Amino acid sequence: MNARVKPVLSVVVPVYNEAASLPHFFTSLHTVLAGVGVAYEVIFVDDGSLDASARLVDDFCARDNHIRLLKLTRNFGKEIATTAGIHAAAGDAILMLDADGQHPVEAIPQFIKKWQQGAKVVVGRPQNRKAGLVKRLGSRWFYWLLRRLVGAALNSDATDFRLIDSEVQTVFNRLTERSRITRGLIDWLGYKHEYVSYQENPRLAGRATQSFRKLSKLAIDSAISLSISPLYITAYIGAVVLPLATLLGMGMILDWCLRDPLHVHATGSAYLNVLVLWLIGVLLVSQGIIGLYLSHIHTET
Ligand code: UDP
Ligand code: MG
Repeated sequence: MNARVKPVLSVVVPVYNEAASLPHFFTSLHTVLAGVGVAYEVIFVDDGSLDASARLVDDFCARDNHIRLLKLTRNFGKEIATTAGIHAAAGDAILMLDADGQHPVEAIPQFIKKWQQGAKVVVGRPQNRKAGLVKRLGSRWFYWLLRRLVGAALNSDATDFRLIDSEVQTVFNRLTERSRITRGLIDWLGYKHEYVSYQENPRLAGRATQSFRKLSKLAIDSAISLSISPLYITAYIGAVVLPLATLLGMGMILDWCLRDPLHVHATGSAYLNVLVLWLIGVLLVSQGIIGLYLSHIHTET
């Protein structure tokens, strides 16, 4: 990398086995960025590609000094690759973009405009989602659940095609979780969001490698890292069971002392059942208390 002006815009592109798409992607990205009139850099993050992706980006670097290659030692997944790119970005604004051509580079000027107007986070909203039914329903359900758990304004139709201000980058860089969904973390940070609608393109080549299984695992991991509510669930159940069993037990003892005025005819096993229910209540509540302590540890770490 030779001496260069500090970029205003950093474009972060995670790449995993995209050799077939890269030449076309690079040409169209170059055309758009050359036209926006701000100093820029493009950081391609090679996420342990097995094909010629890294070599192709190396060629781009040789031809164009706006390009940088960040080479991960193995495949870490898109979220980590994007995170690495954000960490390396030197611009005042950082734009994330897929290398498969699905995010139209023509929309980039709109992102920059919104940012220049003061938005700290600009999020792309696809108008024609091409994802399969399972993935679509899955992501809708996941965001619904996450909103419930985290209580933050997380968007289900938002994508990774987004721009963040360097102020957001600074805070983002302080987050250390390893299982992460980048867009979820950015949403969680707050900040004023602006939106850019775009038409999602079909992939330039090849198939999506972010499998549904990979995404589901990520979804669960990030829900756990962003929320402590599941820890309280047993406490809530215990809080219902324990008073109920206590009342029932006291009622039965009172009934026995007064020689069964209500003619309940409670048997020995009925007493035993209530006792067991009461003990279950105690166990649930004490698990809930452990959960409380655990949630404090979780939040503090
Ligand atoms: N990607 C990556 N690491 C992976 C999987 C994907 O860096 O393990 C990149 C991929 O090269 C592309 C972007 O992440 O630039 C989106 O991946 P893909 O198209 O497979 O998933 P989609 O989100 O479109 O379903
Ligand atoms: Mg894709």
